Amino acid sequence: MRWAGQLKTATVVEEADGYYVALVVEVDESVAVKAGHTVTGVDANIARFDYRDATGYQSVSTMSAKLLRLYDRITHYQRLLARKRVANPSNFRSQNYRATRAKLQRDYQKVTRIQMDLLHKFTHQLVQTNDVIVIEDLDNLHMHMNKRLAKNLHRSLFGKFKKLMQYKCAWSGVKLVMVDRFYPSTQRCSQCSFVKTGADRIALEGNRRHHTGHDQYLCYQCGASMRRDQNAVENLIQYAMVN
Ligand SMILES: [Zn+2]
Repeated sequence: MRWAGQLKTATVVEEADGYYVALVVEVDESVAVKAGHTVTGVDANIARFDYRDATGYQSVSTMSAKLLRLYDRITHYQRLLARKRVANPSNFRSQNYRATRAKLQRDYQKVTRIQMDLLHKFTHQLVQTNDVIVIEDLDNLHMHMNKRLAKNLHRSLFGKFKKLMQYKCAWSGVKLVMVDRFYPSTQRCSQCSFVKTGADRIALEGNRRHHTGHDQYLCYQCGASMRRDQNAVENLIQYAMVN
């Protein structure tokens, strides 16, 4: 084993392509809390994460063509299986039904692997290069998504992101700041702290009244014009400064 310590539990799980064992090992390790000079905020959108590093604003895509194809296929298999069950309730025993279900489970596994691969790489990089990281509580992330897509499947990615961040930050001595659900990171101006309300608020498609686009933040008080995601990232970073 890679770790020296006491083996606590072993859990066997069955996946589409076989059995896996998860081992829990208790290790004796003290983590030094990082000094706290490098701060970043991660703004999560359906299709990407936006954040800031030493060289500027960065994005990581969370929605590849491959994932979308898999989501589509999963939706297709789910419907197929539901139809088969309606046609004949004992169909679930048939060879054909089980073959389709096996395909569905394989695609589920592929989705999980792609999501986890992406998230592990991203979260690893974040905790390596920062001392304080600010994220939004993504449990309630409002997902405007095409109905065609397997919504919950994609939404699960943000729950996984939060979990990985929680334990990786703890392991690396990084302070994780969870932003209050009501903090207006999208509506607030990071330059003058003016908050848009009512008909001035920016929706996903921008603001019709002020003719601003979906990707733009235009402050009606100080006149600052920024990219919407960059403004949100700045607001998250400022939240960490006062909380
Ligand atoms: Zn402003």
